[in-house]
Amino acid sequence: AKDEKIGIIGSGLIGRSWAMLFAGAGYQIFIYDIESKQIDSALVDIKQQLQRLEKEGLLRGKLNASEQFKCINGTLDLKQAVQDAIFVQECVPEVLEIKKKVFKGVDDICDANTIISSSTSTFVPSLFTEELKHRKNALVAHPINPPYYVPLVEIVPAPWTDPNAVKRTRELMEEIGQAPVCLTREIPGFALNRIQYAILNESWNLVADGVLSVKDVDKVMSEGLGWRYAFLGPLETAHLNADGWMDYCSKYTNTIHSVSETFKPLPKFEGPQTKVVGQQLEEMVPIQELQSRRNWRDLCLTKLAALKNTL
Ligand code: NAD
Repeated sequence: AKDEKIGIIGSGLIGRSWAMLFAGAGYQIFIYDIESKQIDSALVDIKQQLQRLEKEGLLRGKLNASEQFKCINGTLDLKQAVQDAIFVQECVPEVLEIKKKVFKGVDDICDANTIISSSTSTFVPSLFTEELKHRKNALVAHPINPPYYVPLVEIVPAPWTDPNAVKRTRELMEEIGQAPVCLTREIPGFALNRIQYAILNESWNLVADGVLSVKDVDKVMSEGLGWRYAFLGPLETAHLNADGWMDYCSKYTNTIHSVSETFKPLPKFEGPQTKVVGQQLEEMVPIQELQSRRNWRDLCLTKLAALKNTL
């Protein structure tokens, strides 16, 4: 275990995952929350998760489950979580006013070396870091749910973020076994959600136009594109699907462009079509089965991780 401290602000779903990831590298973790019962349940949950992962041979990091659990402390005192921490990861609800308040509170306590990072999925960092004393150390490190099983982290700087804070965050993410990408500047949706929304919009349109059912649209990904995408991205896929990228472009640019011209205008997920999609999804996975389906998803992701480790 190490001496350096990591502060986690908010002990919900994402805060718990970050705590487990940092514990794998042996950091001293302090999870802060405003609700003492949230912290209590987080600690019970984390302990159970670590033990289960160890039993199943899926525990990440170098320490065993009980050593990792010993690295994790709960606290109701923000100062205890933040003072002298090398890195603070904020994981409070996705409400801009709460983000602003929490960042101000952390900024008042932390020192000049502490990196202050947000888990936000939707707010660019300039929206809640502009007024901070330590704004050069503030950025977004956006995890992907479930972070323990999906390694990508999007690191997003505000215009005033020090490149050195980005670099240190990247190194820390690599150390805990995550896979960071650093955006050169903030942009709404960062990268993953921009790509995901392009896919969602076209999926919606294919169902709305009666071309495919919900189940079959999802099958296009889960039995098609997704098979490749777990290993290589869309650009390398193109590179391999011809004699290299230049050949791909000369062969397919006209087709891609003319197909893309038939795309419908951007949809909004509202109105009667929303219900149609919802009904088909609930036939596939009834609401009361969502949790068991999530558990199955996590199991699949751990098996994929095991496979990737052998390649
Ligand atoms: P959550 O609701 O599970 O947890 C939020 C926690 O914050 C709760 O324990 C709550 O008591 C605590 N909290 C509320 N106000 C607080 C305050 N002022 N100070 C300290 N703690 C406070 O939320 P979550 O799903 O863990 O999401 C946290 C963040 O992570 C959000 O910004 C979200 O957008 C982002 N994120 C979520 C996902 C996801 O799929 N859930 C994925 C990536 C990023």
